[in-house]
Amino acid sequence: MKRSEYFLPTIKEVPTEAEAISHQLMLRAGLVKKVAAGIYTFLPLGLRVLKKIESIVREEMNQVGAQELLMPALQPAEIWQESGRWYAYGAEMWRLKDRNERDFCLGPTHEELITDIVRKSIRSYKDLPINLYQIQFKYRDEPRPRFGILRAREFLMKDAYSFDRDEAGLKKSYQKMYEAYQRIFNRLGLRYFIVEAATGLIGGSRSHEFIAEAQAGEDIIYTCSRCGYGASAELATSIADYYEKETEKELQEVFTPGMTTVEEVSSYLKVSPRKLVKTMIYKVDNELLAVLVPGDREVNESKLAAYLGKDQFELLSDDGFERFGLVKGFVGPVGLEVGKTVADVNLKQMKNFVVGANKRDTHLVNVNLRDFKVDDFVDLTFPLEGEFCSRCEKGKIEVKKGIELGHVFQLGTRYSEAMKAYFNDADGRLKPYQMGCYGIGVSRLLSAIIEQNHDEKGIIWPWPVAPFEAHLVLVFPDREELRSRAESFYRRLVKEGYEVLFDQRTDVSPGEKFAEADLVGTPIQVIFGKKALEGKLEIKIRRTGERKEQSFAEAFELVREEIRKGRAGFVC
Ligand SMILES: [Zn+2]
Repeated sequence: MKRSEYFLPTIKEVPTEAEAISHQLMLRAGLVKKVAAGIYTFLPLGLRVLKKIESIVREEMNQVGAQELLMPALQPAEIWQESGRWYAYGAEMWRLKDRNERDFCLGPTHEELITDIVRKSIRSYKDLPINLYQIQFKYRDEPRPRFGILRAREFLMKDAYSFDRDEAGLKKSYQKMYEAYQRIFNRLGLRYFIVEAATGLIGGSRSHEFIAEAQAGEDIIYTCSRCGYGASAELATSIADYYEKETEKELQEVFTPGMTTVEEVSSYLKVSPRKLVKTMIYKVDNELLAVLVPGDREVNESKLAAYLGKDQFELLSDDGFERFGLVKGFVGPVGLEVGKTVADVNLKQMKNFVVGANKRDTHLVNVNLRDFKVDDFVDLTFPLEGEFCSRCEKGKIEVKKGIELGHVFQLGTRYSEAMKAYFNDADGRLKPYQMGCYGIGVSRLLSAIIEQNHDEKGIIWPWPVAPFEAHLVLVFPDREELRSRAESFYRRLVKEGYEVLFDQRTDVSPGEKFAEADLVGTPIQVIFGKKALEGKLEIKIRRTGERKEQSFAEAFELVREEIRKGRAGFVC
């Protein structure tokens, strides 16, 4: 491709609208263009990368026997009403009506639709197992679209669905996909963690997330480098051992004028926040629930939801405090009248702690578990960095930020039961399918790859997804002899089937051409500069910055060799 003819609107300045480095670089290198919040056009360069990612995903899916189909993005409301998710999805779902006032949505996912297709087509166990997948746009009306295509409202996803006769079959299908996902992310050259994850709105019994470590990531994960433990925030556990053994002292009331936060109380009383116990009041089905957690920890509402078996609850509002006669900022468990009190497990180790006294401007010190009643002790908080790993008990927990690349779920019969999707088993009985679902954020992978592969000058594409394999820079396009030698070099590469971008523009300075080559991030640059007149070309490896001077013939061989290695899956 000749640069002068190629639609590649690059930008020199860092766009102010972009926070994440991947977002900045995608705009600057002309990969995408914003249409509206969280909605983007893939420009030719970005689309080349996207197609390469897609084809790696497709190859690995086909390899494990999954079959590609394409379902519509536009889906009727009825199937969502059957599964019960038409209401559960809330404001995130793009809903619309047709001319006859019938409800539709733009699919945020496709469990319902695929279940509908399979229940109408497969009746016998003889046709199972089956695994169907698609690469299709998904729509979620995110409250805060950010970081470009990382958290977009329209995004490309690969979603696969497996249907099995029984649980053993589901486990096998799941394992196959789990391994295929590892191969996909390895081929893309991504560094990632696999963590146990909560099943959330999708439902089901077991799930894993594949998370790429990245600063711009919005997922927090907890890992142990000693044993390889990894868990998402919803499930992560740790062992806190910093509580001192003390003898229980006598409970006392203390005056704490206007001190309502952990910081205020701990600095006023000159004790560490971990000596405090916070009492959070939730409203659950019109009953009050007190949740007690150590002062240095936050309530993990996913764990609370798992404990309660429901996610419909909320923190008590200011009005609520008044209505129930509670003193906001000074609530504590001693003498508190609520429906139920649950405490984080760490409280079992705590002695002589500080709590609110249920009285304005007053706290209680030297409080112990003897002083109030707890209905249940449950793990209700997030691990803290440096605590011991709950699996190996020796490693230290590290807290990392990451981007969710993929998510696999064992759904079981969550959808097949709700949607009456049954098959005839060998014993003649009707049974619901055992389902699994498996997603990869295909467009988001671009962001993750850039987050992990860039420097201050621009993108550094891993070979398998590089939009071009070689970038030829003709520094002095006005020199006729140089120009014709560069052109023939370019034509030979193209003829041999290599993907080459040839910057032969006459109206751009050499400095701008070099800067653009680094920004766009092609693995090899071939520079036709001053020395080319003496028969020497400069080859620059983008990732290492290494430069080699070679004759035209040697340079041609080197480029061929590098591309050959790159195509063979050589990542860096
Ligand atoms: Zn560990």
